[in-house]
Amino acid sequence: MDMRVFDLFKVGIGPSSSHTVGPMLAARRFLLEAGALDEVAGVRAELYGSLALTGVGHATDKAVLLGLMGETPQHVAPLEVPERLAAVARQGQLALLGTHKVGFDAGRDLLWNKQESLPEHPNGMRFTLTYRDGSTRSRVFYSVGGGFVQAEGEGAEAQGGQLSLPYPFTTMAQLLAHGQASGLSIAQMMRANECVYIDSAQLDAGLDRLWHVMRACIEAGLQTDGQLPGGLNVKRRAAQLWRGVHEAQDILPHDGMHRVSLYAMAVNEENAAGGRIVTAPTNGAAGIIPAVLRYYAEDCKPSDPVAGVRDFLLAASAVGMLCKHNASISGAEIGCQGEVGVACAMAAAGLVAALGGSNEQVENAAEIGIEHHLGMTCDPIGALVQIPCIERNGMGAVKAITAASLALKGDGTHFVSLDEVIETMRQTGFDMQAKYKETSLGGLAVHVVTVNFPAC
Ligand code: SF4
Repeated sequence: MDMRVFDLFKVGIGPSSSHTVGPMLAARRFLLEAGALDEVAGVRAELYGSLALTGVGHATDKAVLLGLMGETPQHVAPLEVPERLAAVARQGQLALLGTHKVGFDAGRDLLWNKQESLPEHPNGMRFTLTYRDGSTRSRVFYSVGGGFVQAEGEGAEAQGGQLSLPYPFTTMAQLLAHGQASGLSIAQMMRANECVYIDSAQLDAGLDRLWHVMRACIEAGLQTDGQLPGGLNVKRRAAQLWRGVHEAQDILPHDGMHRVSLYAMAVNEENAAGGRIVTAPTNGAAGIIPAVLRYYAEDCKPSDPVAGVRDFLLAASAVGMLCKHNASISGAEIGCQGEVGVACAMAAAGLVAALGGSNEQVENAAEIGIEHHLGMTCDPIGALVQIPCIERNGMGAVKAITAASLALKGDGTHFVSLDEVIETMRQTGFDMQAKYKETSLGGLAVHVVTVNFPAC
């Protein structure tokens, strides 16, 4: 499995990894691979399937334009986005990769094919360049979840060179066997694998940067009131509830879990507002891992806010890689079990690893985390990553802590293995009707009456 920790955890922008981050990367990649742009007269982007059905609410159109302008999710300045997009609409042109200006009319050049899906994945898009001599260049890309992008006919394994790893694995059973043979923890083995590509100091710097962005995102969400964009008129709640935490006279046993929920909701409110977040492993599920990490760093005694956080992220990434490789982390492919369920499993595994649990306990925690999300559909109201997504992250974070606790109190033996539950998630997802897979055509998305909401 050729997947890196920093493939799974990426600094990006909200509100969606598959519908915002992936399309932005795909649009930019299309132009970078197209070569010289001097003779280009126009560009067209066509969105298909889930991207077309929920793309307005997920800001896919904005992401595509930004990608065509050469922006990346990691470096684009969220506060500058509205004015830059307004300028494109005002001037009727955009600068490809920031350098070559062409005429652009969203009504003509950005097409939403809601009735049609491309064959390899529900999140398909086609980009076409037209040259001055009338010739064209076209390519199809798929946003396959978590910000990962594949060109047509390009399998996941085709991306990047395959190096020989000291602890190769495509199942948790293999990783556990490596652990028994080497005496190493899952975090240590993941570190050894990463150090084939980068040295340990670079790895630590990258992990520390992720935690820094996650913490900043929680803080921003806990300090920001107001209304989320998109037309549903959803009020941000994390900041108000956080003030309530500090004003409360009574202390109840579950207050700790309330704080964890607020950390997660704060991140997902920032995500819904298009803020800076870490994809973990997706944007819709981005609140769970930061929330459980902050719980570990601040509430667990003893904890190690440096080494423990790094081990947390490394062990969590092992679980995320297994889920992506053997099932999916795309809500459009297998429903929310693949986003919130996987993030819960990753956080549970990370917490056990950081608290010094055995490899078997890490595996047990991850299995519990997924098992109790099996079958969860993706049905965001108004195609916005707000309801049920924001609260669902709070619930997922609390479940992750419960899963870790159950695993840590046991001896690691259990009935259902992580590999079995991942395969169950895969089969359940592929049996799920399409209307429950990020199309906003079923579930809460059609049973809740919305007022003053523009059709998407
Ligand atoms: S319901 Fe789950 S999978 Fe769907 S958009 Fe929300 S968080 Fe993502």
